[in-house]
Amino acid sequence: MNNNEKQPLVQVRDVCKYFKVGKKAYLKAVDHVSFDVFKGETVGVVGESGCGKSTLGRCMIRLYEPTAGEVIYDGKDITKLSKEEQKQFCQKVQMIFQNPYASLNSRMTVKEIVGEGLKQHGTPRKELEERVKTLLETVGLNKDHMSRFPHEFSGGQRQRIGIARALSVEPDFIICDEPISALDVSVQAQVINMLKELQEKRGLTYMFIAHDLSVVKYISDRVVVMYLGTVVETAETEELYGNTMHPYTKALISAIPEADPDRAKASQRIPIKGEIPSPINPPECCRFVERCQYATERCHKEQPELREMTPGHYVACHLV
Ligand code: SF4
Repeated sequence: MNNNEKQPLVQVRDVCKYFKVGKKAYLKAVDHVSFDVFKGETVGVVGESGCGKSTLGRCMIRLYEPTAGEVIYDGKDITKLSKEEQKQFCQKVQMIFQNPYASLNSRMTVKEIVGEGLKQHGTPRKELEERVKTLLETVGLNKDHMSRFPHEFSGGQRQRIGIARALSVEPDFIICDEPISALDVSVQAQVINMLKELQEKRGLTYMFIAHDLSVVKYISDRVVVMYLGTVVETAETEELYGNTMHPYTKALISAIPEADPDRAKASQRIPIKGEIPSPINPPECCRFVERCQYATERCHKEQPELREMTPGHYVACHLV
Protein backbone atom coordinates (compact mmCIF):
# COMPACT_ATOMS: atom_id res chain seq x y z
CA MET A 1 0.00 0.00 0.00
CA ASN A 2 1.48 3.39 -0.86
CA ASN A 3 1.22 6.43 1.40
CA ASN A 4 -1.60 7.96 -0.70
CA GLU A 5 -3.85 5.06 0.25
CA LYS A 6 -2.89 4.98 3.93
CA GLN A 7 -4.46 7.06 6.67
CA PRO A 8 -1.87 9.10 8.58
CA LEU A 9 -1.68 8.57 12.35
CA VAL A 10 -0.18 12.04 12.80
CA GLN A 11 -0.63 15.05 10.53
CA VAL A 12 1.61 18.05 11.14
CA ARG A 13 -0.01 21.00 9.37
CA ASP A 14 1.82 24.30 8.93
CA VAL A 15 3.14 24.18 12.49
CA CYS A 16 5.06 27.22 13.78
CA LYS A 17 6.71 27.70 17.14
CA TYR A 18 8.07 31.20 17.76
CA PHE A 19 9.69 32.38 20.99
CA LYS A 20 9.63 36.12 21.75
CA VAL A 21 13.20 37.16 22.53
CA GLY A 22 12.97 40.97 22.33
CA LYS A 23 10.58 43.82 21.57
CA LYS A 24 10.22 42.88 17.92
CA ALA A 25 12.45 39.82 17.83
CA TYR A 26 11.17 36.29 17.45
CA LEU A 27 13.18 33.11 17.49
CA LYS A 28 11.44 31.09 14.79
CA ALA A 29 12.37 27.60 15.97
CA VAL A 30 9.75 25.89 13.77
CA ASP A 31 8.32 27.77 10.79
CA HIS A 32 5.42 26.38 8.75
CA VAL A 33 6.34 22.70 8.95
CA SER A 34 4.01 20.07 7.44
CA PHE A 35 4.35 16.30 7.04
CA ASP A 36 2.51 13.06 7.88
CA VAL A 37 3.44 10.06 9.96
CA PHE A 38 1.78 6.80 8.91
CA LYS A 39 0.87 3.97 11.26
CA GLY A 40 3.67 1.50 11.87
CA GLU A 41 6.41 3.50 10.15
CA THR A 42 9.45 5.38 11.41
CA VAL A 43 9.89 8.93 10.23
CA GLY A 44 13.41 10.25 10.77
CA VAL A 45 13.78 13.99 11.35
CA VAL A 46 17.33 15.22 10.73
CA GLY A 47 19.30 18.42 10.70
CA GLU A 48 22.11 20.18 12.52
CA SER A 49 21.53 21.20 16.11
CA GLY A 50 19.42 24.37 16.18
CA CYS A 51 17.33 23.37 13.14
CA GLY A 52 14.16 23.05 15.26
CA LYS A 53 13.72 19.27 15.23
CA SER A 54 13.46 18.85 19.03
CA THR A 55 11.10 21.85 19.35
CA LEU A 56 8.93 20.26 16.67
CA GLY A 57 8.85 16.98 18.66
CA ARG A 58 7.81 18.90 21.77
CA CYS A 59 4.99 20.64 19.87
CA MET A 60 3.75 17.22 18.72
CA ILE A 61 3.43 15.94 22.28
CA ARG A 62 2.09 19.26 23.65
CA LEU A 63 5.12 20.02 25.79
CA TYR A 64 5.01 23.26 23.77
CA GLU A 65 1.88 24.91 22.39
CA PRO A 66 2.43 25.68 18.69
CA THR A 67 2.27 29.39 17.82
CA ALA A 68 0.27 28.46 14.72
CA GLY A 69 -0.76 25.39 12.73
CA GLU A 70 -2.23 22.08 13.78
CA VAL A 71 -1.09 18.67 14.94
CA ILE A 72 -3.79 16.12 14.14
CA TYR A 73 -3.47 12.81 15.99
CA ASP A 74 -5.73 9.95 14.93
CA GLY A 75 -8.06 12.45 13.22
CA LYS A 76 -8.24 14.98 16.08
CA ASP A 77 -6.53 18.34 16.63
CA ILE A 78 -4.47 17.80 19.81
CA THR A 79 -5.12 21.34 21.04
CA LYS A 80 -8.90 20.77 21.02
CA LEU A 81 -9.20 17.54 22.98
CA SER A 82 -11.71 17.02 25.78
CA LYS A 83 -10.32 16.11 29.22
CA GLU A 84 -10.91 12.41 28.58
CA GLU A 85 -9.36 12.58 25.08
CA GLN A 86 -6.38 14.46 26.52
CA LYS A 87 -5.85 11.66 29.03
CA GLN A 88 -5.91 9.08 26.23
CA PHE A 89 -3.54 11.19 24.12
CA CYS A 90 -1.01 11.31 27.00
CA GLN A 91 -1.16 7.53 27.11
CA LYS A 92 -0.96 6.93 23.35
CA VAL A 93 1.90 9.35 22.64
CA GLN A 94 5.15 9.05 24.56
CA MET A 95 8.60 10.57 24.29
CA ILE A 96 12.06 9.11 24.85
CA PHE A 97 14.50 11.88 25.69
CA GLN A 98 18.05 12.53 24.58
CA ASN A 99 19.74 12.57 27.92
CA PRO A 100 19.15 9.45 30.00
CA TYR A 101 21.12 11.11 32.83
CA ALA A 102 18.77 14.08 33.16
CA SER A 103 15.44 12.56 32.12
CA LEU A 104 15.12 10.15 35.07
CA ASN A 105 14.28 11.43 38.56
CA SER A 106 17.36 10.57 40.62
CA ARG A 107 15.31 10.23 43.85
CA MET A 108 12.97 7.61 42.47
CA THR A 109 13.64 3.89 42.27
CA VAL A 110 13.40 2.14 38.91
CA LYS A 111 10.12 0.59 40.04
CA GLU A 112 8.68 4.03 40.81
CA ILE A 113 9.95 5.52 37.53
CA VAL A 114 8.69 2.73 35.28
CA GLY A 115 5.48 2.29 37.29
CA GLU A 116 4.60 5.99 37.50
CA GLY A 117 2.33 6.00 34.43
CA LEU A 118 0.66 2.74 35.52
CA LYS A 119 -0.01 4.18 38.96
CA GLN A 120 -1.57 7.29 37.43
CA HIS A 121 -3.89 5.04 35.46
CA GLY A 122 -4.99 3.27 38.65
CA THR A 123 -3.17 -0.07 38.20
CA PRO A 124 -3.45 -2.12 41.45
CA ARG A 125 -0.16 -2.50 43.41
CA LYS A 126 0.38 -6.22 42.79
CA GLU A 127 -0.34 -5.96 39.07
CA LEU A 128 1.87 -2.85 38.84
CA GLU A 129 4.82 -4.77 40.26
CA GLU A 130 4.32 -7.64 37.79
CA ARG A 131 3.99 -5.22 34.85
CA VAL A 132 7.17 -3.33 35.84
CA LYS A 133 9.03 -6.64 36.07
CA THR A 134 7.84 -7.66 32.58
CA LEU A 135 8.71 -4.23 31.16
CA LEU A 136 12.23 -4.41 32.57
CA GLU A 137 12.68 -7.85 31.02
CA THR A 138 11.38 -6.48 27.70
CA VAL A 139 14.20 -3.91 27.63
CA GLY A 140 16.91 -6.34 28.75
CA LEU A 141 16.93 -5.55 32.50
CA ASN A 142 15.52 -7.67 35.33
CA LYS A 143 13.51 -7.59 38.56
CA ASP A 144 16.62 -7.12 40.70
CA HIS A 145 16.96 -3.65 39.19
CA MET A 146 13.56 -2.51 40.52
CA SER A 147 14.76 -1.20 43.88
CA ARG A 148 17.83 0.60 42.53
CA PHE A 149 18.26 4.29 41.68
CA PRO A 150 19.22 5.76 38.27
CA HIS A 151 22.78 6.68 39.32
CA GLU A 152 23.55 2.97 39.80
CA PHE A 153 23.18 2.34 36.05
CA SER A 154 25.25 2.95 32.92
CA GLY A 155 24.02 5.37 30.21
CA GLY A 156 22.72 2.54 28.04
CA GLN A 157 20.85 0.96 30.97
CA ARG A 158 19.31 4.32 31.88
CA GLN A 159 18.05 4.75 28.34
CA ARG A 160 16.53 1.25 28.62
CA ILE A 161 14.75 2.41 31.80
CA GLY A 162 13.48 5.46 29.88
CA ILE A 163 12.19 3.17 27.12
CA ALA A 164 10.49 0.87 29.68
CA ARG A 165 8.83 3.95 31.20
CA ALA A 166 7.56 5.05 27.77
CA LEU A 167 6.27 1.53 26.99
CA SER A 168 4.52 1.15 30.36
CA VAL A 169 1.32 2.89 29.22
CA GLU A 170 1.17 0.92 25.94
CA PRO A 171 1.62 3.82 23.53
CA ASP A 172 1.01 3.73 19.76
CA PHE A 173 3.36 6.57 18.84
CA ILE A 174 6.78 7.30 20.35
CA ILE A 175 8.85 10.39 19.65
CA CYS A 176 12.49 9.41 20.12
CA ASP A 177 14.47 12.64 20.61
CA GLU A 178 18.14 11.85 19.90
CA PRO A 179 17.81 8.70 22.05
CA ILE A 180 21.34 7.45 21.41
CA SER A 181 23.44 10.58 21.00
CA ALA A 182 24.47 10.67 24.69
CA LEU A 183 25.45 6.98 24.67
CA ASP A 184 28.76 5.24 23.99
CA VAL A 185 29.08 4.09 20.38
CA SER A 186 29.26 0.48 21.64
CA VAL A 187 25.74 0.63 23.12
CA GLN A 188 24.12 2.78 20.42
CA ALA A 189 23.51 -0.19 18.11
CA GLN A 190 22.00 -2.24 20.96
CA VAL A 191 19.45 0.48 21.75
CA ILE A 192 18.59 1.05 18.06
CA ASN A 193 18.08 -2.67 17.45
CA MET A 194 15.95 -2.93 20.57
CA LEU A 195 13.74 -0.06 19.35
CA LYS A 196 13.37 -1.82 15.98
CA GLU A 197 12.42 -5.12 17.61
CA LEU A 198 9.89 -3.42 19.88
CA GLN A 199 8.36 -1.70 16.86
CA GLU A 200 7.89 -5.01 15.04
CA LYS A 201 6.46 -6.80 18.07
CA ARG A 202 4.14 -4.01 19.22
CA GLY A 203 3.26 -2.31 15.92
CA LEU A 204 4.65 0.99 17.18
CA THR A 205 4.97 4.17 15.13
CA TYR A 206 8.12 6.23 15.69
CA MET A 207 9.36 9.69 14.96
CA PHE A 208 13.13 9.47 15.31
CA ILE A 209 14.91 12.80 15.78
CA ALA A 210 18.67 12.75 15.16
CA HIS A 211 21.60 14.59 13.64
CA ASP A 212 23.37 11.38 12.57
CA LEU A 213 22.26 10.60 9.02
CA SER A 214 23.64 7.06 8.96
CA VAL A 215 21.54 6.09 12.02
CA VAL A 216 18.46 7.72 10.49
CA LYS A 217 19.04 5.83 7.23
CA TYR A 218 19.17 2.54 9.14
CA ILE A 219 16.02 3.03 11.22
CA SER A 220 13.69 5.18 9.09
CA ASP A 221 11.10 4.44 6.40
CA ARG A 222 10.89 8.12 5.49
CA VAL A 223 13.09 11.08 6.28
CA VAL A 224 12.34 14.77 6.85
CA VAL A 225 15.37 17.08 6.54
CA MET A 226 15.09 20.36 8.47
CA TYR A 227 17.14 23.51 8.17
CA LEU A 228 16.66 26.60 10.34
CA GLY A 229 13.08 25.77 11.31
CA THR A 230 11.85 24.67 7.88
CA VAL A 231 11.60 21.40 5.94
CA VAL A 232 13.97 21.48 2.95
CA GLU A 233 13.51 17.92 1.69
CA THR A 234 11.43 14.84 2.52
CA ALA A 235 11.09 11.45 0.84
CA GLU A 236 11.13 7.71 1.47
CA THR A 237 14.55 6.74 2.84
CA GLU A 238 15.81 4.89 -0.22
CA GLU A 239 14.71 7.71 -2.54
CA LEU A 240 16.19 10.43 -0.30
CA TYR A 241 19.60 8.78 -0.02
CA GLY A 242 19.66 7.49 -3.63
CA ASN A 243 18.25 10.55 -5.39
CA THR A 244 19.18 13.45 -3.11
CA MET A 245 18.08 16.78 -4.55
CA HIS A 246 18.53 19.61 -2.02
CA PRO A 247 22.07 21.08 -1.75
CA TYR A 248 21.89 20.96 2.08
CA THR A 249 20.86 17.28 2.16
CA LYS A 250 23.58 16.49 -0.41
CA ALA A 251 26.18 18.11 1.84
CA LEU A 252 24.93 16.27 4.94
CA ILE A 253 24.95 12.91 3.15
CA SER A 254 28.40 13.51 1.68
CA ALA A 255 29.71 13.96 5.24
CA ILE A 256 28.66 10.43 6.32
CA PRO A 257 31.87 8.46 6.91
CA GLU A 258 32.31 5.67 4.33
CA ALA A 259 33.49 2.33 5.78
CA ASP A 260 34.78 0.96 2.44
CA PRO A 261 38.17 2.69 1.72
CA ASP A 262 37.69 2.52 -2.10
CA ARG A 263 34.26 4.08 -1.93
CA ALA A 264 35.53 6.64 0.60
CA LYS A 265 38.22 7.67 -1.93
CA ALA A 266 35.66 7.94 -4.74
CA SER A 267 33.08 9.88 -2.75
CA GLN A 268 33.56 13.63 -2.54
CA ARG A 269 32.65 15.60 0.52
CA ILE A 270 30.53 18.66 -0.28
CA PRO A 271 31.51 21.48 2.08
CA ILE A 272 28.94 23.73 3.76
CA LYS A 273 30.20 27.24 4.41
CA GLY A 274 30.06 28.62 7.97
CA GLU A 275 27.70 27.81 10.81
CA ILE A 276 23.93 27.53 10.92
CA PRO A 277 22.74 31.17 11.26
CA SER A 278 20.59 32.51 14.10
CA PRO A 279 16.88 31.63 13.88
CA ILE A 280 16.00 35.09 15.31
CA ASN A 281 14.05 37.04 12.66
CA PRO A 282 15.34 34.87 9.77
CA PRO A 283 15.27 36.51 6.30
CA GLU A 284 12.28 35.95 3.99
CA CYS A 285 14.38 34.19 1.35
CA CYS A 286 16.02 30.77 1.14
CA ARG A 287 17.26 30.10 4.69
CA PHE A 288 20.27 28.21 3.31
CA VAL A 289 21.35 31.05 1.02
CA GLU A 290 24.45 32.19 2.94
CA ARG A 291 25.90 28.68 2.97
CA CYS A 292 24.85 27.41 -0.45
CA GLN A 293 27.42 27.21 -3.23
CA TYR A 294 24.67 27.36 -5.90
CA ALA A 295 22.83 30.46 -4.60
CA THR A 296 21.50 32.84 -7.26
CA GLU A 297 19.94 36.28 -7.03
CA ARG A 298 16.47 34.74 -6.79
CA CYS A 299 17.56 32.71 -3.74
CA HIS A 300 18.30 36.00 -1.92
CA LYS A 301 14.83 37.37 -2.71
CA GLU A 302 12.36 34.52 -2.58
CA GLN A 303 11.75 31.70 -0.15
CA PRO A 304 11.46 28.41 -2.10
CA GLU A 305 8.27 26.39 -1.56
CA LEU A 306 8.32 22.69 -0.78
CA ARG A 307 7.33 21.10 -4.12
CA GLU A 308 6.71 17.46 -5.05
CA MET A 309 9.40 16.45 -7.58
CA THR A 310 8.68 12.73 -7.86
CA PRO A 311 5.81 10.95 -6.03
CA GLY A 312 6.34 11.50 -2.29
CA HIS A 313 9.66 13.35 -2.76
CA TYR A 314 9.37 17.03 -1.79
CA VAL A 315 12.14 19.61 -2.13
CA ALA A 316 12.37 23.34 -1.30
CA CYS A 317 14.96 24.75 -3.70
CA HIS A 318 14.64 27.13 -6.67
CA LEU A 319 17.23 25.23 -8.68
CA VAL A 320 15.70 21.74 -8.43
FE1 SF4 B 1 20.75 27.00 -2.63
FE2 SF4 B 1 19.08 28.67 -3.86
FE3 SF4 B 1 18.41 26.13 -3.56
FE4 SF4 B 1 18.49 27.78 -1.48
S1 SF4 B 1 17.10 27.91 -3.22
S2 SF4 B 1 19.27 25.71 -1.57
S3 SF4 B 1 20.23 29.06 -1.97
S4 SF4 B 1 20.10 26.92 -4.77
